[in-house]
Amino acid sequence: MPDIPKKSAGQDLYFMELALQAAGEAGERGEVPVGAVLVDETGTVIALDGNRSIGDSDPSGHAEMVVLRQAGKKLGNYRLLNTTLYVTIEPCVMCVGALIHARVGRLVFGAPDPKGGAVVSLYRIGSENRLNHQLEIEGNVLADRCAKLLSSFFRNRRRKLHSPPQNDTRKNGRQ
Ligand SMILES: [Zn+2]
Repeated sequence: MPDIPKKSAGQDLYFMELALQAAGEAGERGEVPVGAVLVDETGTVIALDGNRSIGDSDPSGHAEMVVLRQAGKKLGNYRLLNTTLYVTIEPCVMCVGALIHARVGRLVFGAPDPKGGAVVSLYRIGSENRLNHQLEIEGNVLADRCAKLLSSFFRNRRRKLHSPPQNDTRKNGRQ
């Protein structure tokens, strides 16, 4: 295993605040408000962005994927060794897969996602030892605020659509 950057709790909070800002900006663009930031071992931000699935008509436009793509281009490398990815919501199957392909060292997420989370909730792909890379994982960082941003977004959207909550199957999904 390469050296994994050990961040202090204070640094984790700082970068999760940045991810929350990116999530809020995504929400303002009409995207599901999820934000992510990739940081190198010196604590330098490599990429910061939010969901872009709707705007880009891209099913892979989750915040984590957007940030990994930007970082890969910026560094000229598809391996993103010794980096930490902060994301406001527990990553899905696709995103954890991409984090493993990129060899990201550490994952810090905000709120767990009981409907789609592939790190601790539905699956534990990030710590699956049959795969050739495992992530160091930290969850529940500013979880309440991360979850609240998402739930108020869906509440507002339901209100706009004038559809009763029980008919909206997307209410807690993040896609
Ligand atoms: Zn995802």
